[in-house]
Amino acid sequence: MIDSKTGLSPKEFARRAREIVWILLDVDGVLTDGGLYYDRRGASVLKFDVRDGLAIKLAQMNVEHNTGGPFGAIICSAQTGQLVAGGINVVTTARCSLAHAEMVALSLAQQSLNSHLLTECELASSTEPCAMCLGAIPWSGIRSLLCGARGADAEAIGFDEGTKPRLWRAGLERRGVQVTRDVMREEARAVLHAYKESGGSIY
Ligand SMILES: [Zn+2]
Repeated sequence: MIDSKTGLSPKEFARRAREIVWILLDVDGVLTDGGLYYDRRGASVLKFDVRDGLAIKLAQMNVEHNTGGPFGAIICSAQTGQLVAGGINVVTTARCSLAHAEMVALSLAQQSLNSHLLTECELASSTEPCAMCLGAIPWSGIRSLLCGARGADAEAIGFDEGTKPRLWRAGLERRGVQVTRDVMREEARAVLHAYKESGGSIY
């Protein structure tokens, strides 16, 4: 059947949607640089603080490579700590406003595990989620969220974090997502400031 407004069939819609996901996934060149950050085996013994450290490291690499905004995220198995996927912000380089680090990491993890639900996983993000990523988290099925810098730290260098409910953490926890904030906050803030000082694009 063809959609009366667009002239596209559902199959064509699905094909184009897949193309968009592949744009989000087209970051392997950065994530595999040095052979570390997208290697499941190499990350099998990650500990709590190291998980968020890795997300911050990805953010730092993204700034150093000039490949996007100063944000990184990873998805780990909640039980074993095994790395499932990493993500970086590629909004400007992929020309895609959806391509925040968390969205990229969630997309990669879902593709990697061949499921739209990440019920055994946790997300570590170099900065607290913006309004868009906050909205995406419950539908991803992840069980816990670790955050480095606060949203206010990103806003302090000019980023728009969107309108979030004042009690957003309680809202996530009501939906079964445990939230831990301020994990290596100073290190994460330092990446934000390095980006600002490098003259990176702020949006
Ligand atoms: Zn976001």
